Amino acid sequence: MVDLLVTGGAGFIGTNFVRYWADRHPHDRITVLDSLTYAGKAANLDGLDQVRLVRGDIRDTRLVCELLATGIDTVVHFAAETHVDRSIGDPDIFLDVNVQGTHSLLKAARQTWIDDGDGRPHRFHHISTDEVYGSLGPDDPPFTETTPYAPNSPYSASKAASNHLVRAYHRTYGLQTSVTVCSNNYGPFQFADKLIPLCLINCLTGKPFGIYGDGMNVRDWLHVDDHCRGIELALLGGRSGETYNLGGDAALPNLAVIDLICNGVDRAFRADPSLAGRFPQAFAARGQRSATLKTYVADRPGHDRRYAVDTGKIGAELGFRPRCAFEDGLERTIAWYLENESWWRPAPGS
Ligand code: NAD
Repeated sequence: MVDLLVTGGAGFIGTNFVRYWADRHPHDRITVLDSLTYAGKAANLDGLDQVRLVRGDIRDTRLVCELLATGIDTVVHFAAETHVDRSIGDPDIFLDVNVQGTHSLLKAARQTWIDDGDGRPHRFHHISTDEVYGSLGPDDPPFTETTPYAPNSPYSASKAASNHLVRAYHRTYGLQTSVTVCSNNYGPFQFADKLIPLCLINCLTGKPFGIYGDGMNVRDWLHVDDHCRGIELALLGGRSGETYNLGGDAALPNLAVIDLICNGVDRAFRADPSLAGRFPQAFAARGQRSATLKTYVADRPGHDRRYAVDTGKIGAELGFRPRCAFEDGLERTIAWYLENESWWRPAPGS
């Protein structure tokens, strides 16, 4: 049995992970620590009896120590500021939360498990992003775990710094750690400021959406369920002190992803005429193509051109393979947003 602290467990990937873990490990205790920023929702965890949500900040080291002292032996650390555009406009909060916040957790873990602890087995698992490796040229090989870090945005720089801190706590203090470095995720519960839900919701509400530059920036997409399974493998079988890359073998230019979403929405409206009544502002409700809403805007400063992830290490050591093909996962994601309008539609007056 594992006694888990999941930070950021009310955000996109955290929610999916808590639900995934609760389903497969019904006897484990799960404590979620989340400050419920714009990206976190307490209601995401409704109906999960084995989960306790603590509203609090990862930078509050005393609170984290109190939580760890209740018997927690495993931290899975998702909590972060995560939106690259926001990090360009307001980098300070990214350094505060992603760097200081991670350090606060590491300090609490060291104090509880090593300094005051009884040496029992523990694990501090850190969730990171392929953006720490920087940008690839068209013919460069995919990122491996030994690719030198070259972050290009305040977000990715803050994530790179947090990865280094996790490594340092393993090497210096003997903290039992692991890190998964993952490509772009998609699936249910993702806040509407990220590419896939933004484009999808704008299709449903008839609003144009901006495409940076020429739209040919390439991202590798991993369904969030596959990410959760990769984390589970690394947590239960991964070697302490190691980093494992996770990716979906689904590298696509942003424009191709957007076209798949637009076509998927148009198809859903053709298949279910009741959608036109529920989403009357959608172009698809009038039989027009959602792709008409595409608008090209000036490129983002420091915009990475291409990411691709080599998942050979976690494949060979832990048997990880992505199971969800991108087109299938995208169709399921579109269906989830169509079925869960009240989750993403702002309440009247908010
Ligand atoms: P998200 O923005 O949807 O959720 C972040 C969560 O952290 C929210 O619930 C928020 O309330 C919480 N949080 C923020 N600051 C906090 C603080 N100071 N204390 C406590 N809680 C706080 O993010 P996400 O997309 O689910 O990403 C989760 C993790 O996965 C992040 O570390 C991110 O860097 C990493 N990651 C994300 C992706 C992706 O495609 N989304 C890919 C690779 C890695």
